[in-house]
Amino acid sequence: MLWRPRRPGQPPGPEPLGEEHTPMTEQNNDLQTYAPPQVFVDQANGGPELYEQAEAEGTEFWARQARELLTWSKDFTTTLDWSNPPFAKWFEDGTLNAAYNAVDRHVEAGNGDRVALLFEGEPGDSRSYTYAQLKDEVSKAANGFASLGVGKGDRVAVYMPMIAEAVITMLACARLGAIHSVVFGGFSAEAVRSRVEDGEAKLVVTADGSYRRGKPTTLKPAVDAALEKGGDSVQHVLVVKRNGEDVAMTEGRDVWWHDVVDTASTEHAPVEVGAEDPLFILYTSGTTGKPKGVLHTTGGYLTQGAFSMKYTFDLKSETDVYWCTADVGWVTGHSYVAYGPLVMGATQVIYEGTPDSPHRGRFWEIVQKYGVTIMYTSPTAIRTMMKWGEDIPAEYDLTSLRLLGTVGEAINPEAWVWFHRVIGGGNCPIVDTWWQTETGAHMITQLPGVTVAKPGSAQRPLAGVKVDVVDEMGESLQNGQSGFLVVREPWPSMMRTIWGDDERFVQTYWSRFDGMYFAGDGARFDDDGDIWILGRVDDVMNVSGHRLSTSEIESALVSHPTVAEAAVVGAEDETTGQAVVAFVILTDDAAQEGHDKAELGEKLRAHVGQEISPIAKPKRVLIVPELPKTRSGKIMRRLLKDVAEDRPVGDVTTLADQTVMQQIVDSLRD
Ligand code: ATP
Ligand code: MG
Repeated sequence: MLWRPRRPGQPPGPEPLGEEHTPMTEQNNDLQTYAPPQVFVDQANGGPELYEQAEAEGTEFWARQARELLTWSKDFTTTLDWSNPPFAKWFEDGTLNAAYNAVDRHVEAGNGDRVALLFEGEPGDSRSYTYAQLKDEVSKAANGFASLGVGKGDRVAVYMPMIAEAVITMLACARLGAIHSVVFGGFSAEAVRSRVEDGEAKLVVTADGSYRRGKPTTLKPAVDAALEKGGDSVQHVLVVKRNGEDVAMTEGRDVWWHDVVDTASTEHAPVEVGAEDPLFILYTSGTTGKPKGVLHTTGGYLTQGAFSMKYTFDLKSETDVYWCTADVGWVTGHSYVAYGPLVMGATQVIYEGTPDSPHRGRFWEIVQKYGVTIMYTSPTAIRTMMKWGEDIPAEYDLTSLRLLGTVGEAINPEAWVWFHRVIGGGNCPIVDTWWQTETGAHMITQLPGVTVAKPGSAQRPLAGVKVDVVDEMGESLQNGQSGFLVVREPWPSMMRTIWGDDERFVQTYWSRFDGMYFAGDGARFDDDGDIWILGRVDDVMNVSGHRLSTSEIESALVSHPTVAEAAVVGAEDETTGQAVVAFVILTDDAAQEGHDKAELGEKLRAHVGQEISPIAKPKRVLIVPELPKTRSGKIMRRLLKDVAEDRPVGDVTTLADQTVMQQIVDSLRD
């Protein structure tokens, strides 16, 4: 065991929070573990020494990574300034440019012919960009943006589909020292307006539209609607022509990308910025409430992004074909599409559309077509593919894959094992990466050539990151106990503040435990000291004095052959305080079999009772057609709680499909 949360002889803390926690006995004790294949170990970028070095070197470890992985215009002399917590400064007097690091330096190193982006459009069009071509495109965009008045420190709102121009736009902003604020392309005009106003954006970059499930969609009209209601700071709207849908152009304000960018010069000198100059603002998913405008700066953010590309993803930039399925609208599309892979000189796939367009094998067709070697996706995508059945991936050659990753939610062991066997062919390590918009990069994950993986557990902190699980008093817990997931020491890619609201930053993240960052998630150390994420602490249920975690009960439900997905909430209950209410979606097969809902509900209750304990049995099991999810695929339990407690449902603006709640309510009526 390389990493243990407890030092021997350490006195036990006060009454542990986790004492009443009902452990997932069955799933823990009989759990099969997965050692990385020897061929993978032999070639892995990171070995056990990485943890030892991080331990021995302290913050110097990060200084070393920053110098090894990035190119600085001016080297830094201080590594960490923590004199005014929680406002950290990393590598403060160093200067650099993010776009130079992501693009130019690879061309200068003689790798201009290497492919940077393999763009796959939903209708089947594709285009690749070498690093040399990407440098030209980013330079042209930077010149174009500058001609529209954008300079260092200005904010640029980005509301785009998942096309190469989205990445080019982000990098062009970085090249100018401007701050991008990406708004997910599926969000409403209202979301655009509030984010444009919060950041006082000068420029909005958008597209006429995109494609979704074979049909053209529009984006520009939402920008128009947003700016009709506000957003007075906006001087220009720059529009990429993607699908040729008719769009209105406001004279003097709206301009076409092909007029402004395509005609601009390919010569542009990247603006040298300070390591602590802002790189972007990004709003959290809004799973637990109103989204927060998280601010990330340049040097530390890029360092940890590059570091995790190299070690968590074991990236070999010359040979790997990397594909992260995330949209640039959320943080994974920032750290692990726009920045991390490019800073490391990777070849990566970006895909515009949905996984079922034009057919349910699209993801696997893309893996086969490009020979993807590293694939990073979400548990919700995996569960959806499971629901569709393994015959579909079986039609494609997936043998190029050598490493798989997941992010966004806890992955239930059932889905992990399926991903490993059906997609990974039984020989790809899986990294289950826990992190947040706020943390900027991976925080807890396997090191793929080292860690013996346990399905369902993110396991151990990234080398150089100090994560802990503590009780209500902030004392470290022992193995076998559960409590609050915290970070004890600053890390390079940590958020610096909430845009324009330092006070809210301190209140939200740093006030619950003295001197520690509190993420909002609950977690447990298992008997080996590995970390299991239990879900949001707000979601932890208290049933007759027993603490139950949503993710454990959901995993138990999904382990039943009829269940494709499950979401569990605690609803107020007169007798037990809270009662477990489960919402489940059936697999395609089970749905076709036409089960009696009440009977199946009973079976599922019994199944949970057997898998976990009778206390964990849901009081009600509701079979529904869909679950409410954010655009990044996370289940919005707070909305289900509204249903379970018979209230009008709350704010649905960040839902992927705004009609889902109505579908659920309707399905429960009949
Ligand atoms: P908001 O903060 O607005 O409620 P959000 O927390 O969903 O939104 P993100 O930053 O996108 O916004 O998500 C981070 C959260 O996602 C984590 O706090 C955690 O709850 C969950 N998460 C991410 N990766 C994992 C993982 N590998 N295992 C378990 N949970 C994960
Ligand atoms: Mg959050």
